[in-house]
Amino acid sequence: MTLGRILHLQRLSTEDGPGIRTTVFFKGCPLRCAWCHNPESISPKPQTQWFAVRCIGCNTCLEACPNGCLSRGADGLHIDRQRCEGCGKCAQVCPAGALELLGRTVSSEELLRELLKDRAYYEASGGGATLSGGEPTLQPDFAEALLRGLKEHGISTALDTCGLCSEQTLDRLLPYTDLVLFDIKLLDPAAHRRFTGASNERILSNLLHILDFIRRAERPPALWIRTPLIPAATDSDENLRAIGSYLAEHLDGAISRWELCAFNNLCRDQYTRLGLEWDYAGLPLMTAEELARCEQVARSSGLRPDLVLATGATRAPQLVESES
Ligand code: SF4
Ligand code: SF4
Repeated sequence: MTLGRILHLQRLSTEDGPGIRTTVFFKGCPLRCAWCHNPESISPKPQTQWFAVRCIGCNTCLEACPNGCLSRGADGLHIDRQRCEGCGKCAQVCPAGALELLGRTVSSEELLRELLKDRAYYEASGGGATLSGGEPTLQPDFAEALLRGLKEHGISTALDTCGLCSEQTLDRLLPYTDLVLFDIKLLDPAAHRRFTGASNERILSNLLHILDFIRRAERPPALWIRTPLIPAATDSDENLRAIGSYLAEHLDGAISRWELCAFNNLCRDQYTRLGLEWDYAGLPLMTAEELARCEQVARSSGLRPDLVLATGATRAPQLVESES
């Protein structure tokens, strides 16, 4: 039995590969992107989140915590996150559903059974299952067991990765993967380190390793590149041109999409529930013009223009007008 830690499953997803998909969000990520849209997926450990709006102030949780991590202040419940072990006892006794434990341990067999329940959707839409996160390659045994099991049942698979892992891990997962969703955030190594906490050298060498696999494999996976468009971080003309020309030079003919994913701020409340600050909390969505500019720059970067696709919500025109 192979065990892994996940956050949750997202059914009926249309954003993590073709067709209708069920996406498994793994817990734990090796990067620390300043703009991270899934802060609950960064730590590999279970975490407790508190919904202020649901709390009725009964203080039942304070008694239940075996480590005395909970206290009440004028601004609500305080969780000592250094001492919290993520045991979930507080969430179990909360009568209002105001505490939730993020992260559960599950066996690959159990999760596979869950994923197979959506087979009808996969077959009707050309979809499948996607491993995402967090970072699936941080749990290679679990990811391999899932991907292999899905393929044994004839389910299409996708691996959504930040690319920071060992070549050996890729070699274990790629044979069972039909689509690789590979993030390239910044091409400049120093900027990549500044914004994500790690250089991109290993990431780029892994991309070339995947290319090598694609060229040798009998049934190679498709490869989509994804770039999050983050204002003042990744969305500059310089960065988009650099990524586009890198893809054109090294991966011409091997990738079938370069997706530009517009910044979104939907995760703002998630940071609050985890007791975290977020530097991007006050930033609005991009305007349609800003997104179109990024798409245009990417299309003129040297890569086949029809491979570039800009996705994501933009600011409503009336909001843009009222700001000007
Ligand atoms: S998860 Fe466990 S250790 Fe953490 S606050 Fe709740 S009861 Fe305490
Ligand atoms: S048990 Fe739930 S409702 Fe009661 S104080 Fe704790 S978080 Fe609030």
